[in-house]
Amino acid sequence: MNETITLPEGAVYYGGHYDVVVIGGGHAGCEAALASSRLGMQTILFAINLDTIANMPCNPSIGGTAKGHLVREIDALGGEMGRVADQTFLQSRILNRGKGPAVYSLRVQSDRRAYQAAMKHVLEQTDNLDVKQAEVTKLHVKDGHVEGVTIHTGAYYTASCVILATGTFLKGRIIIGDVSYSGGPDGLFPANSLSESLLDCGVQLRRFKTGTPARVNRKSIDFSKMEEQLGDEVITPFSFETKDPGVNKVSCHLTYTNAQTHQVIRDNLHRSPLYGGKIEGIGPRYCPSIEDKVVRFADKERHQVFIEPMGENTEEMYVQGMSSSLPEDVQLAMLRTISGLENVKMMRTAYAIEYDCIDPTSLLPTLEFKQIRGLYGAGQFNGSSGYEEAAAQGLVAGVNAALKLQGKEPLVLDRSGSYIGTLVDDLVTKGTPEPYRMMTSRSEYRLLLRQDNADLRLTPIGYKIGLISAERYERFLQKKAAIEEEISRLQGIVVPPSDTVLEFLKNHGSATITTGIRMSDLLKRPEFTYEMLAELDAERPHLTPTEAEQVEIQIKYEGYINRQLRQVEAFRRMEDKLLDENLDYDKIDGLRIEARQKLAKIKPRSVGQASRISGVSPADISVLLIYLEQQKLHH
Ligand SMILES: Cc1cc2nc3c(=O)[nH]c(=O)nc-3n(C[C@H](O)[C@H](O)[C@H](O)COP(=O)(O)OP(=O)(O)OC[C@H]3O[C@@H](n4cnc5c(N)ncnc54)[C@H](O)[C@@H]3O)c2cc1C
Repeated sequence: MNETITLPEGAVYYGGHYDVVVIGGGHAGCEAALASSRLGMQTILFAINLDTIANMPCNPSIGGTAKGHLVREIDALGGEMGRVADQTFLQSRILNRGKGPAVYSLRVQSDRRAYQAAMKHVLEQTDNLDVKQAEVTKLHVKDGHVEGVTIHTGAYYTASCVILATGTFLKGRIIIGDVSYSGGPDGLFPANSLSESLLDCGVQLRRFKTGTPARVNRKSIDFSKMEEQLGDEVITPFSFETKDPGVNKVSCHLTYTNAQTHQVIRDNLHRSPLYGGKIEGIGPRYCPSIEDKVVRFADKERHQVFIEPMGENTEEMYVQGMSSSLPEDVQLAMLRTISGLENVKMMRTAYAIEYDCIDPTSLLPTLEFKQIRGLYGAGQFNGSSGYEEAAAQGLVAGVNAALKLQGKEPLVLDRSGSYIGTLVDDLVTKGTPEPYRMMTSRSEYRLLLRQDNADLRLTPIGYKIGLISAERYERFLQKKAAIEEEISRLQGIVVPPSDTVLEFLKNHGSATITTGIRMSDLLKRPEFTYEMLAELDAERPHLTPTEAEQVEIQIKYEGYINRQLRQVEAFRRMEDKLLDENLDYDKIDGLRIEARQKLAKIKPRSVGQASRISGVSPADISVLLIYLEQQKLHH
């Protein structure tokens, strides 16, 4: 850029031009910056403190129910979280093993510091990417398009795209009982200037809140009074690229609150900022504080408390399940009623944090702002909660900023193909009245969106947008072919009612056969696994454990999967009916006023998206479909 740059008010010098500026070094910012730089965009990431890149201000873990699915999907698309989680985990477990594969969810206990260091190092080594410790204090917008940012040192940077991934820092306010002060998480500085600048640019902000429990010293805990929780014997990595799954290094421990704990809380509810109306921000329904749990589930005698290590080289332990904003003395009293924590020493006090964020219905499905082109939002700033939700949005925003600058079709993942698509669609179409956390129940297509097949669903898309290398894609195609060949091989084998077979069936308490049966139909029987049928199948090719798992799931759940695939076809038909972003809904006769207003505000991309907007009825959708047909006839 050689034309002379006019410095905006308050700026001291011109820092240069970037294709993409990412504001935030949290889980969203990291994925956004890596995606845009890996797609060839000159990118810079700003963070208030580089030592807390990819920080885990809440539980030191990655994954869990539905969150594990997101991490797998991020990896399948070419994102980074899965790889770093595999390199820095302390304990790994698949949750919900007792249920069906749709809800199997990988969760790892992470070494918080090691995770930060590993992600920071990846950022530092990435081409086209600069990383800078600075607070962005101003956003500059001209004629409805971003122009650049100014940082606290007075440097002014011009940019073609800016991604806001500011997490819980914007006007961050810490609350502990009657004590409250301006602050970011973990004792970090808040970002107090950017909010004003965003308001000046016409961005509407609102207050959300979240909370975290205390951290205590391991040496003050009596683990003999708790249940030890071990990791899985066979470790399943997050990344489809991870060769060495690693080993478990630590245990977690389970204890419970009790009547005494609940009494301490009830006796001090009058000192609770939450119940004293001192907290303005709206908190996450699905990550309630302990005082909230005691009030809302008053009939419950006890609540689970997990003691989780924060890292390999620290004595800090995370007290999962005891998030709170009660005064510090009350926190200590309630913790010391819990079995094993009678003499506990708090290293960090539990607290609540309030922060500014947006209403995500002000974004397009690409996560670009409708009113300010070139400006994107990602993560907690968009009203979600959780590292994995943040990382998923960061990836989408980073990819779309790059695709926009390359003049290519945007990446819009639909909800029938991924949890990431479900997450973004829920946020931008329905909005969220509280911090949005992903759950498997949010998807209509759970059986299709399993964590085990994230690559089969998304790696071709990752390859098409340019984040998956040709080598990786070749490996993926080989895996896919091996699975498909094995499924059709098993469907083609007819197992005869020979003595050996009848003996085998009898030994496994399985129904006998009188005529030949397809091997795949035998595998459908609940008493058999793919491994077990090897006894009847001498010609079987060598498959990797993940390929074998895929074959087994696809055959065993074939009926349910086909039924969901038919539902997806119906869904896709409505998604493929695209709507012009500038359609004037006031001109469509028969639409109800509420529907006109909602459609004009959300600017749905398709009739399918329109049908998910609250306040748009099926009758309105019929009117819209007729209108589209008429348009087709007249053009
Ligand atoms: C106290 C607390 C409790 C939480 N509890 C839960 C929970 O129970 N369950 C759950 O799912 N999630 C919880 N979370 C949320 C979880 O931490 C976030 O969802 C996740 O970290 C969001 O990632 P992010 O990238 O959007 O933002 P963050 O991880 O918050 O990162 C934001 C980044 O933006 C940078 N930044 C901000 N403003 C500026 C600026 N103006 N200039 C430069 N850099 C800037 C910061 O330095 C930081 O690097 C909690 C978070 C906190 C703080």
